[in-house]
Amino acid sequence: MPSGKTHAVVEMALLPALGAAYYVALQPGTVELAVFAGAYLFSSLWLSPDLDLHKNAARRRWGPLGFLWTPYSKVFKHRGLSHSLVLGPLTRLVYLGLVLAAVIAGLSYLWGLALPPAEKAAAFWQNREVLWALGAGLYLPNVLHVLLDRGVSALRPRRAHARGR
Ligand SMILES: [Zn+2]
Repeated sequence: MPSGKTHAVVEMALLPALGAAYYVALQPGTVELAVFAGAYLFSSLWLSPDLDLHKNAARRRWGPLGFLWTPYSKVFKHRGLSHSLVLGPLTRLVYLGLVLAAVIAGLSYLWGLALPPAEKAAAFWQNREVLWALGAGLYLPNVLHVLLDRGVSALRPRRAHARGR
């Protein structure tokens, strides 16, 4: 199956075309475009489906925080639910959300860290265009990843079990 580098190269190469298509089709504002591009880059580089492997390029990009993905790689078997077109990204977003919630709760407990005002957070989640841009940016690299994995496996079935580095 394709290496982490191959996935990243394909996904980066398609970002300008996808961004242009998004701009032409929906004429988003600068904020939406920036959210889309940022979410796309984050998803492609740090939220790869291959986080279901103990060693992979995305996990290395997390640096010293890579250990946060150890439970994920133990729970999700390689190319199982983590590589589902619809549910795959959700497993990582929910997992990351739980980890972040635990970290924030821990910090606020220890140091009384101030949480952002609820109204500000609510306003962000109510902006439909920004949410769509965020969702599309987070989902598209995963779709490209899974399609590339499946395409390469279909062409070279005997290599399907190669490691995803
Ligand atoms: Zn994969």
